[in-house]
Amino acid sequence: MRSITTFDLQYSHRFYGFKGEAQYLHGHTGIMTIEVEDSINDGVNMVFPCNEIRKTAWEVLQNFDHALILREDDPLLPAILGVYKEQGILNGTPQNKMKGPAFKTELATAYPDARIVVTKETMTVEGMIKLTYDLLKDKLNIAKITFTSGVNGASQEFDTHNDIDRCPLCGISLDENGVCHKCGYRKP
Ligand SMILES: [Zn+2]
Ligand SMILES: [Zn+2]
Repeated sequence: MRSITTFDLQYSHRFYGFKGEAQYLHGHTGIMTIEVEDSINDGVNMVFPCNEIRKTAWEVLQNFDHALILREDDPLLPAILGVYKEQGILNGTPQNKMKGPAFKTELATAYPDARIVVTKETMTVEGMIKLTYDLLKDKLNIAKITFTSGVNGASQEFDTHNDIDRCPLCGISLDENGVCHKCGYRKP
């Protein structure tokens, strides 16, 4: 069975070098749906608590929310960094609080202080799915990700291994020592 959680992401981007309106900077409300698959965890009668999926995924997804997403070779990038620097907001402001921890993968680097994500490939809906899966695949048994942005959408199914040990009391993943960090349950 699957537990399904949805996220709202407000972001701006453009398709650098693309022949069409999307080569101009513009914004979207993107809706991401993450489906986590496993057996029903008997103790809690859930696959995985949705609020925990939300917490785990939002840690990384937060980096894309109210953020500017640009490809690494886009000349807008140095221009915007220059303006942010001049304005003194490049390295954050006290009002820039809704930040996730920075990340760096093969596909993207997040700079939460500047609310910028720099990507290797153009950030299409398909690109966003690849990025998200890569960031979360070791933390959640992701069976499917759907991302829609305006009238565009994409989805992909993934093979799951269903080998994450879950706490029978609150349903969240046990750590490498078989301990639940939430309630202290210890795997016998
Ligand atoms: Zn767009
Ligand atoms: Zn627990």
